[in-house]
Amino acid sequence: MILRARYVAPVDGPVIDDGFVAAEGGRIVEVGPWKKPRTTTGETLDYGDAVIVPGFVNAHTHLDLSDLGGKVPPGADLIDWLSRLMKLRSAMTVDETTVAEAVRLGVEQSLASGVTTVGDVTSSPDWTRPMLARSYLRSVSYGEVIAIGQRRGLLERRLAAALSRDWAAPRVRVGVSPHSPYTVEPAAMKRCGEEAEKHLASVCVHLLESPHEEEFARLASGPLREYLVGLKVWDERVAAADCDPVELLRRSGLLNSRLLLAHVNYVSDAQIALLGECGVSIAYCPRTHAAFGHPPHRCADMLARGMSVCIGTDSLASNPSLSVLDELRHVRRAHPEISPETLLRMGTLHGAKALGFGEEVGTLSPRRWADMTVVPIEPKSVKDPLAAIFSGKLPPLASYVAGKRVHPAESADAR
Ligand SMILES: [Zn+2]
Repeated sequence: MILRARYVAPVDGPVIDDGFVAAEGGRIVEVGPWKKPRTTTGETLDYGDAVIVPGFVNAHTHLDLSDLGGKVPPGADLIDWLSRLMKLRSAMTVDETTVAEAVRLGVEQSLASGVTTVGDVTSSPDWTRPMLARSYLRSVSYGEVIAIGQRRGLLERRLAAALSRDWAAPRVRVGVSPHSPYTVEPAAMKRCGEEAEKHLASVCVHLLESPHEEEFARLASGPLREYLVGLKVWDERVAAADCDPVELLRRSGLLNSRLLLAHVNYVSDAQIALLGECGVSIAYCPRTHAAFGHPPHRCADMLARGMSVCIGTDSLASNPSLSVLDELRHVRRAHPEISPETLLRMGTLHGAKALGFGEEVGTLSPRRWADMTVVPIEPKSVKDPLAAIFSGKLPPLASYVAGKRVHPAESADAR
């Protein structure tokens, strides 16, 4: 299998003019300026005015909420939005059929937008994972743990479901997501840390998403306490962590390179420094961040410290699409100080590393899986092809996973 285009952006090296990528057995065997490949035979598919990039990595999403598009519009208040989301969710029928359909929709949208790997948080791993296992997406499926107040008793069951290997598949790995410091009590957070360590599992936590999280962690008070009271989840046994949220994770044994933090919208210099030292990855969710009107994200400061900042879309409940390319286009406008090369790394290799796939995908280099996305560019006036794809509007022409075209589906050619 050989793909050719006006540009190839391998991520681990400079952009190649008139380049090609050749794959065999699902893995890349050659990348370079166009010539007849030595190592593989077969027809060359020439995409012309386009850039071949590694498949995009959506490091933070909730595919099982893909049926909520447009139903819970984000506003200026995150807690109000969470309350509306929970209310809607509890009024809906949520069963195996509806979850499977939501995940199917999310998988389809992801592949169509050039995303080939996801970090997917699910509250129902038994229903989500079979759909992921059947799909072409590569994934870490983080089983969500919520264990606080009236939901304290869910801890062990949720942890076991998260780390169950029943549905693990070649492209599906399991992880655990203790949801956040305001939905998982300090003792439960510690249990999650112990189990994650025992299984060497990937972990995802929503952290510092709200300006009120610090107060809640220190004192178990403030608007997040009121939110839990409103949900009838709060009880008097809920204990404060008595420290800031980052310190809570440190005490829980979670601050290491297997940890991915979603959002991190309200973070101090000292917290950034500690997270950086511990090799923690950060999933910045650009359009969700913008929709809630948070202050500017500190992704550029984190990148300057050498931290692995990757891209998440969060769910369709708060975001118009599951396209990492569209997220990067947003970041290009919001953070013009970040170079197009860095943007591409954020959307590919950084996400792959965050999910533990850093040696397998995320760059176009020999021996890695041939996961690729072809992004069209305007035929004329392209001096910087990466700047062109991030200032453009066009969706990808095609997505490939392990050398197989997964969007448009190969069977579409027959129609
Ligand atoms: Zn999330």
